[in-house]
Amino acid sequence: MTISTYAKKRSAAKSLGAKRYFTGKPCKQGHISTRFTCSGTCCECLFIRSNTPEAKIQKYKIASLRIKNNKEKYNKKARDWRNKNPDKVRAILQRYRASENGKQVYRGCSRSYAIKFPQRRAANENARRAIKINAMPAWADKEKISEFYKNRPHGYHVDHVIPLVNSKVCGLHVIENLQYLKPVDNFRKHNKFEIS
Ligand SMILES: [Zn+2]
Repeated sequence: MTISTYAKKRSAAKSLGAKRYFTGKPCKQGHISTRFTCSGTCCECLFIRSNTPEAKIQKYKIASLRIKNNKEKYNKKARDWRNKNPDKVRAILQRYRASENGKQVYRGCSRSYAIKFPQRRAANENARRAIKINAMPAWADKEKISEFYKNRPHGYHVDHVIPLVNSKVCGLHVIENLQYLKPVDNFRKHNKFEIS
């Protein structure tokens, strides 16, 4: 809408049902701008008022309250968007993980996970290590292995009877090759394997 198409008087704008009108005269602050029909407020003044830091905080508060009161709706909206844009989600997560904030959060997560589930953590770590050195065959019974870690007696380590990395042999990360060992014995053994 160009300036010339606005009604000049508020009453005229009202009867036309227009949201704004334009008198062509400056407001108290000297803006020559359109005005709102409902209140007679100068649009430029309102724009300036609504962009102060305080106004922005107020807007943010109102928006977050709206989200809080319509949780279901906004959760669904977010879920739909995530399902539609998996690439964007991945990119955002990657960016977050690389950021200083994200690094701290993820470090905290893995630490609290380790405290909460020490056995699971040990099982995961060893499985990862085994995959890395190709010691976990496809037929390995992952469930039995994690069960073995879960049932580890207090004060014992899970040890590979035949070590995964050794100059003479390479053991597998399979249930048949696992045993419980006192930490002292485990350190004494330290990847040694004697062929008898
Ligand atoms: Zn103004």
